Amino acid sequence: MMRKHQFMPKAIHDSEAVNSCARKSAIHSSIMILIVEDEVKIARFVQLELEHEGYEVRHIIDGNKALKSILENDYELIVLDLMLPGLSGTEVLRELRKVKDTPVIILTARDRIIDKVEGLDYGANDYMTKPFAIEELLARIRVHLKRSKEGAKRVSYGKLVVDLSAHTVTYDGATIDLTKKEYDLLVYLLSHRGEVMSREKTLEAVWGFDFYGNTNVVDVYVRYLRSKIDDVFDIKLVQTVRGAGYIIK
Ligand code: CA
Repeated sequence: MMRKHQFMPKAIHDSEAVNSCARKSAIHSSIMILIVEDEVKIARFVQLELEHEGYEVRHIIDGNKALKSILENDYELIVLDLMLPGLSGTEVLRELRKVKDTPVIILTARDRIIDKVEGLDYGANDYMTKPFAIEELLARIRVHLKRSKEGAKRVSYGKLVVDLSAHTVTYDGATIDLTKKEYDLLVYLLSHRGEVMSREKTLEAVWGFDFYGNTNVVDVYVRYLRSKIDDVFDIKLVQTVRGAGYIIK
């Protein structure tokens, strides 16, 4: 049977569970979750359960303070109530989505379809209504953490996908073989998409100081990238900005 949130978590009473909590903490020590919730009892319960799973947890009651903390910190996931003092959960979500794509699970007593649709429209990743089963919340948290971790390991540009963990590049599923420096240059330009990157900056970031002053290297490697990507797939990936550098936009 699933436990509802009025039950106390087992961890508090069970010293073996506390030990296992300490072991798990070492595993996910860097995963920080924020709970934004004005019902202190619920927040405390969720916090204890999450800490038992080994996550680091912060709890904030007020919408304004929560938004400030979200903008200043890199939380891996946010559990967000809708009816809050200060800014509402919807307003917090709308503001944070302007700058961050942190996974957000709305946890609210509002169960009307319109609230759910609005929450998801504003960019929530998931929506749960109170009362809730803690096991379900934990399972959804795991799913969203896994998804965002996988998302962070890939950079894509249209049909071009760079898998940052496997160091592979594909276009529409077809593998593109790049040398180490071609790959580094591509990742550098892609991660500064929309910005013109000067030859000097690019040289320093991709080749380091050994090549200081030899900005022709950048031009040569841009040509290599074009011959392997643009020419083959008939696209215009890396563009030249005369007198300024290169851009992927
Ligand atoms: Ca509330």
